[in-house]
Amino acid sequence: MAGIRLDSPLQYVKGVGPGRADVLAQQGLKTVKDLLFYFPRSYLDRSNIVPIANVKLDRTATIVGRVKAHGILKGRKQRYEVILGDDTGAISLVWFRALRYWQTRIQKGQRWAATGPVTYFMGYQMIHPELEPLEEESDQMIHAGRIIPVYPQTSALNRMGLTSRGIRRLTSYIFEHLEERFDDPLPPDVRQKLTLPELHDALTKIHYPDEHDEIEQSRRRLALDELLTFQFLMLHRRGLKDVTRKSHSYDKPGATLTTFRKLLPFELTDAQKKVIREIFDDLQSDTPMSRLLQGDVGCGKTVVAVIAALYAAENNLQTAFMVPTEILAEQHYRNWRGPLQRVGVSSALLTSSLKPNEKRTVAQACAEGATQILFGTHALIYDYVSFDRLGLVIIDEQHRFGVQQRGKLYAKGVTPDLLVMTATPIPRTLALTLYGDLDISTIDSLPPGRQPTRTVWRTANVRNNVYGFLKEEIQKGGQVYMVYPVIEKGEELGLESVEDAFKRLSAEEFKGYRVGMVHGRMKTADRDETLQRFREGRVDMLLSTTVIEVGLDNPNATVMVVEHAERFGLAQLHQLRGRIGRGSRKATLAAVAHPPLSDLARQRLEMFASTTDGFRIAEADLELRGPGELFGVRQSGLPEFRVARLASDRDLIEAGRQIVDRLAVGPEQLDSEYRTLYTSLSETAARSEQVLGGG
Ligand code: ADP
Ligand code: MG
Repeated sequence: MAGIRLDSPLQYVKGVGPGRADVLAQQGLKTVKDLLFYFPRSYLDRSNIVPIANVKLDRTATIVGRVKAHGILKGRKQRYEVILGDDTGAISLVWFRALRYWQTRIQKGQRWAATGPVTYFMGYQMIHPELEPLEEESDQMIHAGRIIPVYPQTSALNRMGLTSRGIRRLTSYIFEHLEERFDDPLPPDVRQKLTLPELHDALTKIHYPDEHDEIEQSRRRLALDELLTFQFLMLHRRGLKDVTRKSHSYDKPGATLTTFRKLLPFELTDAQKKVIREIFDDLQSDTPMSRLLQGDVGCGKTVVAVIAALYAAENNLQTAFMVPTEILAEQHYRNWRGPLQRVGVSSALLTSSLKPNEKRTVAQACAEGATQILFGTHALIYDYVSFDRLGLVIIDEQHRFGVQQRGKLYAKGVTPDLLVMTATPIPRTLALTLYGDLDISTIDSLPPGRQPTRTVWRTANVRNNVYGFLKEEIQKGGQVYMVYPVIEKGEELGLESVEDAFKRLSAEEFKGYRVGMVHGRMKTADRDETLQRFREGRVDMLLSTTVIEVGLDNPNATVMVVEHAERFGLAQLHQLRGRIGRGSRKATLAAVAHPPLSDLARQRLEMFASTTDGFRIAEADLELRGPGELFGVRQSGLPEFRVARLASDRDLIEAGRQIVDRLAVGPEQLDSEYRTLYTSLSETAARSEQVLGGG
């Protein structure tokens, strides 16, 4: 093929052919343009390579060296080991998994770059490092001060020779022979104001930067495109929402609500009152509510939601109250059934673990309209559940549900109002971007009398001190949570499991104490019984997996130990921490980390121990691990941003929003530059709408 154009099929690019084209197409890479949007995962250059003699224990490093020896070693644990050496020394690279695969890929004398945390076992080593083969040519490039792109890899691509190096050959060939430039739909004034490069230059430099700075400039340029596309999509969804009119209406709040508020054992906080007003205003309006209620763990969102449900009941409307776990559904039901009954409002509970005839009874009462508030898990969305007059849909811990699940429940009513809740508070600009189709209410203070939970992090070798502390605490009448990452041994190598710990602790360290265990693979009845005993103070120490992460409420629990804290996201650790410190006594959380720890892991644990502010933690999580961890991207229907960084690209988010607001008048009203942008964004948005699965 002579000249290469952006829409040229990859198959006809030199070195591709039908076989490779197939594999590339499976990754969504069909044209030259697609491949140029396949961005490097990282870069190698002299500035980030450490001589082997200078590596530091427990720190992450990138080293480059030649394979001196390699082989599979038998022993207690079979492993594959590579000795990699440079002019300054040697280090061993170790694999416990996929031994044969690595053995066939690696040969003596080859040069590799390896990245990973450094540990010590009879010498420095890296376990399961990231590897990048370095041919002589790229080696020379590094020595000449060049920056080399490292591409994301999959085993399918690797098998076809499309390793990082293989893709590097393609991209460099394409840039040499490309006969066309990318048109930049972004108006020049926007680009100048934000000092961003032109699209074509950004795309070139993100693959082959001459200077380190160019990587970041290019990334920001491409990030703006990504943010714009997403915000444009949100604009469309908002537009659609406004035309709908509600089929039901609300009277002024009545006597039931007043009586109910008096029954509560506490005064509502000002923050709670404020959000209740916002919700009531929405309910009274003639367009359906779509509101996100956010607030830190323990701030008291549940009572706000129940009050909204009660207002619906006063107006002869039913409420569906969906939560992500059975434990939480049961807790809500148990806590609120009584008070609701006292004001004449009927509620029921529906979860998958009810017997078939119980399910039938609950579903029937709901279909007839006899049940006014139905609490439940995702069981609520099944087809056999229907409502007589569903007016309000409440979704607690909404990030645990997918957009589809939300939609299914919503469809059981005619234009019901929607209230979704989350304990992951996020900064406002961000919230506007992420939840552009929702209005936002924030509970920004905790109920009075709470003491902030003391948080420490320790490495596993000093765990015995922690045990001593737990015993003291139990003797003083407190209760303890211990959280583990897995249920059984062997689910993942080298992790403490809750079952093992239960056996060991109840027979040894905590013999004579009342130790209980809950996890996701137990019978519901057994789990409930243990939780019930824990709540009543008849279990001293509850061992569990993260099934207790959301919502569980036992004010007498004052201590929590999280094993393998390094494996959890900050937002998740913060949720776990929210289980304690709910009473008036000072609570303590001990995060136990198991080495080797990367720099990032240390940084995260430091951060977590240093603050109890959910906003700061959410921001830090965003910064350190990206939005995926924070929001459960795949489930929540948010796109996985490839280059945008929600925490640090605040200025781009703002700029994007301003541009999109300007576009909101529609293409006819725009001058030609902005109309071009509008057209280009509608095209991309139409494509990603398919990917996102609609609103
Ligand atoms: P979250 O917002 O994390 O869902 P919850 O609704 O579970 O928090 O409330 C946490 C605890 O605070 C519960 O025990 C609840 O009864 C209590 N609570 C809620 N509002 C108040 C208040 N205004 N004053 C005192 N305690 C409150
Ligand atoms: Mg809650």
